[in-house]
Amino acid sequence: MGKTQILDGNVVSEAVKEELKPRIEALKEKGTVPCLATILVGEDPSSATYVKMKGNACERLGIQSKRIHLAEDTTTEQLLKVIEELNKDTAVHGILLQHPVPKQIDERKAFEAIAIEKDVDGVTSWGYGQTALGFGIYPSCTPAAIMQIMNFYGIQAEGKHAVVIGRSPILGKPVSALLLNANATVTTCHSYTKNLPEIVAQADILVAAVGKPEFIKGEWLKEGAVVLDAGYNPGNIGDVEYESCFKKASAITPVPGGVGPVTISMLLKHTVDAAERG
Ligand code: NAP
Repeated sequence: MGKTQILDGNVVSEAVKEELKPRIEALKEKGTVPCLATILVGEDPSSATYVKMKGNACERLGIQSKRIHLAEDTTTEQLLKVIEELNKDTAVHGILLQHPVPKQIDERKAFEAIAIEKDVDGVTSWGYGQTALGFGIYPSCTPAAIMQIMNFYGIQAEGKHAVVIGRSPILGKPVSALLLNANATVTTCHSYTKNLPEIVAQADILVAAVGKPEFIKGEWLKEGAVVLDAGYNPGNIGDVEYESCFKKASAITPVPGGVGPVTISMLLKHTVDAAERG
């Protein structure tokens, strides 16, 4: 077994941002400043950190960040009104509603209220449907990041068996669709899946999107598998047991510094794409 390649998310993220810089300049010369509106509802510290990171990443690149922070007791109707206003605001090109929102809010209804042309985080069912059918313009950012990492490192999906662990609307399901559209044979696993280690053993490409620290063990893997770990658990721990998986894999994303930074870059890219579409 040769050396395991580390799929460095920081390198991929920088490459995406470099490509965006001249596009942002060109937009500004025409009088358009790309703008991402972020909505944070409540005081969840992790959500607050994620929103801040996204806003700061925008500003570092010259994308305007319009940060909206709503009270913990915001109602669905109040949130819908804010989204409606952002939909109408021609200076705003992308809208990100940070998940999760407080319990009293109907999150799905709020996501669905985001105009399709501003759904840069790929959360609407319309956007998901387009992605699944193969013509989505803004797939969810973490699935887009996984495909971007594979493209950057020349990892072909075609003809490979990709196993995705997780089927959430923002991660497992859309990444399964993107891999299928890239001509992989896809198996999507979830909490009812039986004999998970046996299925993982068939994977040429493994995507971990389960939300359980170090859940996937190296001994489950086929020798030479490519491992993409989307997991981000408290303490900066991924969904795969890194050391044991590193030994078996031909390539692996670290946590932190793997899928996470590329996810943010994809959000920036989608915002610039949206600004260019006008
Ligand atoms: P989620 O909504 O909690 O979904 C987890 C999925 O894992 C569900 O589909 C669940 O199955 C499945 N699952 C749970 N236990 C399982 C088991 N024992 N065997 C097989 N499947 C099992 O989580 P998520 O939002 O997709 O996030 C997944 C991970 O990615 C988390 O660590 C999260 O922090 C991370 N994440 C990272 C980024 C990033 O930018 N890097 C972005 C988003 C999320 P059921 O459907 O049957 O319940």
